[in-house]
Amino acid sequence: MNEEHRIRCFLCGSEQYDEFNRLESFGYPLVYYQCDHCGLIFQSAEANQAVDTDFYSETYRQIYQASTEPTAKDLWVQENRALALVSLLRTLKIQPRERILDIGASTGLLLETFRETILAAAGPGTMDTLNGGEVVGVEPGDAYRAHAEGRGLKMYPSVDQLIESYPHKFDLISMIHVLEHLPDPVGMLKRIRENLLKDHGVLLLEVPNFYAHDSYELAHLACYTPHTLQQVLRQAGYHVFFFQRHGFPRSSFLNLYLTLLAQPLPADAPLTPVKRDRMVRCKRRAGFLYRRGVEKLFPDKAWLPLPDVE
Ligand SMILES: [Zn+2]
Repeated sequence: MNEEHRIRCFLCGSEQYDEFNRLESFGYPLVYYQCDHCGLIFQSAEANQAVDTDFYSETYRQIYQASTEPTAKDLWVQENRALALVSLLRTLKIQPRERILDIGASTGLLLETFRETILAAAGPGTMDTLNGGEVVGVEPGDAYRAHAEGRGLKMYPSVDQLIESYPHKFDLISMIHVLEHLPDPVGMLKRIRENLLKDHGVLLLEVPNFYAHDSYELAHLACYTPHTLQQVLRQAGYHVFFFQRHGFPRSSFLNLYLTLLAQPLPADAPLTPVKRDRMVRCKRRAGFLYRRGVEKLFPDKAWLPLPDVE
């Protein structure tokens, strides 16, 4: 508790916490805390390199992929993930007809998949007109944003710049593997609800599952469990109407990811206090016991093969 800066929980704002784990990632020392009040696992945003704006524009990709350009493995995962997300929306009969936004759009692969499969199917029109519809992306990484712009996608470097200069609201907003990087997830989701999402719009969100995915990474400021993720959405004024634990496209047996769909709550919905997460350390241990068992017994299904490309 003798840190120079004040550390606050990203979910409930409490300043009471315990150390949960201490480790090293890419040569950087990391400390994860657990909030005494709500149980969220998080790093000090101030102490983490990731709060530096330049970090995401260049350093992040260099550290993680030894390159600022998209790798073939990265593109393969993005492509298969995009197809799965579109298939999920179709199964649930969610058909955004006008505008779709992807925050953390990377190379724009998900946006292209949305444009080709969802908006184009919504009615007659060419790829460019789409009945007045449009796909838009936010991506802070310069090389990735340039890649997406090169494919004819409308891109912005930050949510702030999008809010300032884009006049319309969106039917669907996706944030795929973004929330775990944010120092103020509740604040960001509130801004999205108030400024970018239509009243009946849908938010599509995916993060690593702390009970199956390693989760500890330099740039992962919070590690979400099914409970804390849903609490973040509730505090930001959303109603979660679909929630799934799954491993696609990396695993058939390990629930590495949490995917959810949510809609804004009515403006007069009462703000409920954050409910505490319980037994987090026990559940993490049990999850990793199961994971090691599956990896031994079913190595081919625990981790699905990636294409042999680099
Ligand atoms: Zn908390």
